[in-house]
Amino acid sequence: MLVKADLHTHSTASDGDLSPEKLITLSAHLNLKAIALTDHDTLAGVQNVLNSIKTHGIRVIAGVEISAEYDPGMLHILGYFPANPHGLEEALKQVQTARRERIPKVIKKLNALGCMLTEADVLKEAKDAQIGRPHIAKALLKKGYVRSFDEAFDEYLGKGRKAYVPKEKMTWKKAVSLIVHFGGLPVLAHPYTLGLGSQGLEAFIKDLMGAGLAGIEVLYPEHTPEQTALYTGLASRLGLLVTGGTDFHGPGRNAFSLGDYGLEEELLTKFINRLKP
Ligand code: AMP
Ligand code: ZN
Ligand code: FE
Ligand code: FE
Repeated sequence: MLVKADLHTHSTASDGDLSPEKLITLSAHLNLKAIALTDHDTLAGVQNVLNSIKTHGIRVIAGVEISAEYDPGMLHILGYFPANPHGLEEALKQVQTARRERIPKVIKKLNALGCMLTEADVLKEAKDAQIGRPHIAKALLKKGYVRSFDEAFDEYLGKGRKAYVPKEKMTWKKAVSLIVHFGGLPVLAHPYTLGLGSQGLEAFIKDLMGAGLAGIEVLYPEHTPEQTALYTGLASRLGLLVTGGTDFHGPGRNAFSLGDYGLEEELLTKFINRLKP
């Protein structure tokens, strides 16, 4: 399968390592036709690269990845928009504030555990991005408290680990309807992180569809062939779009790279046709 579009990427506007501009240049270099920028809880990176079709011949799709309340797994809703959805950034202010307010709480826990990080150490990693645990992981790594990014999560930052602090999130109903309200397509990101069996997943997807869900992220690096087959079947049976992407955060962050997973020509055409305003 020849991937033509990577619809799940993160830039320096959230916890990715490449600027939106560098991400686009790399995508063009890889001969991708389209890329969606889907930073965590923000569209701040999108504005300056939407016109890349003119400069690099690549279509940039305005996107976002919203974290939603869910237990015990993890629920992320991707939103894709035919144009920059003016006003959505404002509607995300509350969750953005919650991201910032979580940092000192995590640092307090880390300090009690002997990792003497300061808030300034973490802010230095985040710069003006939507701050998140990866920025804390980088600071821990720099100060030598962990040997790898993964160790930071396994030991301290992952859900339920020693320095874990939950953050206030949106309900999924709000996340899905917000995306619909701003003219976008809401898509269930990496369904495996919900930790549901096939029946539970189908029931939950139907609930999400009640709020306006338009698709499922089927093509994703962490999905097993069985999961990919299950999600493909569900999408087809329920009349949902199939989407996909790498969840790229930067070169060297994972074993795979930008454009290794995503949509081939036919699925991309279906997706773009639905995206039309
Ligand atoms: P946050 O936005 O603070 O909830 O952090 C979520 C981000 O942290 C994810 O998008 C990943 O980039 C990263 N992440 C989450 N869990 C892990 C993990 N176990 N190992 C490495 N990175 C992780
Ligand atoms: Zn991330
Ligand atoms: Fe995600
Ligand atoms: Fe992501």
